[in-house]
Amino acid sequence: MNTWITIPNNSDFTIHNLPYGVFIRDNKPTPGIAIGDSIIDLNAAAKCGLFKSLEFNSNVFESDVLNDFIACGKDAWSSLRSFITTELTSQGELFENKDKILVDRKSTQMCLPIQIGDYTDFYSSIEHATNLGKLFRPNSEPLLPNWRHIPVGYHGRASSIVISGTPIRRPQGQMKPPSEEKPIFGHSKRLDIELEMAYIIGSPTKLGESIAVEDAEDHIFGKVIFNDWSARDIQGWEYVPLGPFLGKNFASTISPWIVTMEALEPFRCESIKQDPPVLPYLQYDGNKNFDIQLEVGITPQEEEETVISRSNFKFMYWNMAQQLAHHTVNGCNVNVGDVMASGTISGRDANSYGSLIEISKGGKEPIQLKNNKERTFLEDGDSVTIRAWCQKGDIRIGFGECEGTIKS
Ligand code: CA
Repeated sequence: MNTWITIPNNSDFTIHNLPYGVFIRDNKPTPGIAIGDSIIDLNAAAKCGLFKSLEFNSNVFESDVLNDFIACGKDAWSSLRSFITTELTSQGELFENKDKILVDRKSTQMCLPIQIGDYTDFYSSIEHATNLGKLFRPNSEPLLPNWRHIPVGYHGRASSIVISGTPIRRPQGQMKPPSEEKPIFGHSKRLDIELEMAYIIGSPTKLGESIAVEDAEDHIFGKVIFNDWSARDIQGWEYVPLGPFLGKNFASTISPWIVTMEALEPFRCESIKQDPPVLPYLQYDGNKNFDIQLEVGITPQEEEETVISRSNFKFMYWNMAQQLAHHTVNGCNVNVGDVMASGTISGRDANSYGSLIEISKGGKEPIQLKNNKERTFLEDGDSVTIRAWCQKGDIRIGFGECEGTIKS
């Protein structure tokens, strides 16, 4: 598709993507769509009258988050995408008003794109669950008996989800290193990342309703990169018997642009075969995994970046539709803007593991970085950047970056 906007080679934000985010314009958070190195200011476009033919109230773009627009429903998302695609490939009203509507993307600051009501974190990569099982419970079967039957998850904390670029303070807490007889208190010494993706709920349910697996994707607005920062020493001491708590809830970072399910459609792919077969409410037809390439880089302070892992979202054992069907099967309701994270996405070998604890084998084998640096866990000043993109033939879409730097 030819567009009058310049799109740099290898841009994440091609005309096939059109992701939604919220950026600062005139000191106000404003909804926008990324295209090349520009942002389409949706509020400015609405004020210029561009959306008058669309069947939703474009006042939703006066909001400083996307929830109101998302709540307009799937037809609204689709009609806006189609309208913007037409405007970018022909010289219509967007072209005529481009001085008012287009903003230089690289000179703006991004904000959290949604108000997040609830956040759930799944644990859906079989390689990650197996690796962590071996590290946390070396004397028993790594996968617990329920794991192949249930998309295991827990309820996290929405309040501490931050936008890419927000500094991450090293958490303090209670821990019990093997060398100590009693628990101690202090700063985490085993600060880690979790390479994840998350989806945003776009269509709500009422309390008592369940979402069938075949309808589940209709309830998803889009996806972001998700880094679930983890303090392994705090986690290791506190997690029995109720699971993650303070080792996880001090911060999670999301990437600023929400890539829609429509943009991801060309990148569907087959899943890993589930064995044993799952219960009927989790059975599905068709391709429900997505081929999304992932990479993690670490940049120590005033050093250059080393990519330490390359993984892929297609490695997930449990897909998003199964996760959402399971989440709601008991009647638990979901709301627009809820965030559902995948769990750490690890592949089969150490170059594709999604956390430092896996790559460094529990901190025993340091990870080599450029310029003779090495890491087991994160040090103060380290910056972690996760990137995600899809490529098929000439079609490329990407998620941009999800970055955070550790502060003492
Ligand atoms: Ca996690």
